[in-house]
Amino acid sequence: KRKYFLAGRINLIQRSKIRELFEKARKMENVISLGIGEPDFDTPEVIKEAAKRALDEGYTHYTPNAGIPEFREAIAEYYREFYKIDVDVDSILVTAGAYEATYLAFESLLEEGDDVIIPDPAFVCYVEDAKISEAGIIRIPLREENRFRIDPDELVELITKRTRMIVINYPNNPTGATLDKETAKAIAQIAEDYNIYILSDEPYEHFLYEGARHYPMIKYAPDNTILANSFSKTFAMTGWRLGFAIAPPQVIKDMIKLHAYIIGNVTSFIQIAGITALRDKRSWEAVENMRKIYAERRKLTLRYLNEMPHIEPFRPKGAFYVWAKIDPELDMSSEDFAEWLLENAGVVVIPGTAFGKHGEGWIRISYATKKEQLIEAMERMRRALEKL
Ligand code: PLP
Repeated sequence: KRKYFLAGRINLIQRSKIRELFEKARKMENVISLGIGEPDFDTPEVIKEAAKRALDEGYTHYTPNAGIPEFREAIAEYYREFYKIDVDVDSILVTAGAYEATYLAFESLLEEGDDVIIPDPAFVCYVEDAKISEAGIIRIPLREENRFRIDPDELVELITKRTRMIVINYPNNPTGATLDKETAKAIAQIAEDYNIYILSDEPYEHFLYEGARHYPMIKYAPDNTILANSFSKTFAMTGWRLGFAIAPPQVIKDMIKLHAYIIGNVTSFIQIAGITALRDKRSWEAVENMRKIYAERRKLTLRYLNEMPHIEPFRPKGAFYVWAKIDPELDMSSEDFAEWLLENAGVVVIPGTAFGKHGEGWIRISYATKKEQLIEAMERMRRALEKL
């Protein structure tokens, strides 16, 4: 069966409506996209300089499979200083973004006959990873009345003998929801009691608003958690492909095999630049600057959306998305609404169903967009919706 990996499995990957929407948008003129999940900022200068210097210093060779030791040290130090969590360097694997960390967790921990619990809505890659690993997929709904946090009682209800892993992602894409300590502890307790892994995808940990805090799952369930994290969002480094996994050493050992022989290591000078990103004060100042700009755009977006008819935003405390509810009276699906917005306002948003069937009735708006563009998009949406 494995022999037909590509031919068989790539067809399972759904693109459908969203791709159609983007293709339509590409053919139109003067469209503003609020669809992108990527920082619009340039990587902080101090990190770029570090990469250039590393090249000049000869960081052009193969690296150890788990990553350059000093970089892994810097990651461990970061968890110690930021969260007071002791992480063993042997528990850290440098990966090509959080994507790779996530993929490795699925591939090394799951196989046919296992089930994985994935929230609904959720970032798109988990379901695709699950299909590739041949695990069964069970969706746990995230509900507005629960602030899109996982309901621990509902989680317990879904666990069976086959359940091997649950995926969580806070701050959340697409809802912008954050976790609270109580829920983090409850999920950790369940994972320990039922002996299941938690894959915790945390690339938005630094984009928090209104005093929200981040609760890394490795703090609460260190023996059960595979943490996926990334430099992509925090330091505006999406194209560098730099991230890491933290997991119990035995799990990391298995992940390394796949990583080293199938995927390959992250470029050495980029890993060296990662040390500067984590240790240099100036890079953290840049992160705080970006956070403040996101915070301002978030406020602006919420203010506009709250004044518009036919749409009601959830008040997100994290990431750079607003998850907004479409007026049920309109009797429009998420996809129809997104298409309508494109045609009538020239604005691209993502229909909630891209993230699962519980995303029906919602859209995702990204404010990782320059302020002037964002204002123009909001004005257009308001004008269009007022006529509806
Ligand atoms: N996880 C979530 C929740 C994301 O939103 C994204 C990117 O949009 C990723 C992972 C992938 O990040 P990376 O660039 O680190 O692979």
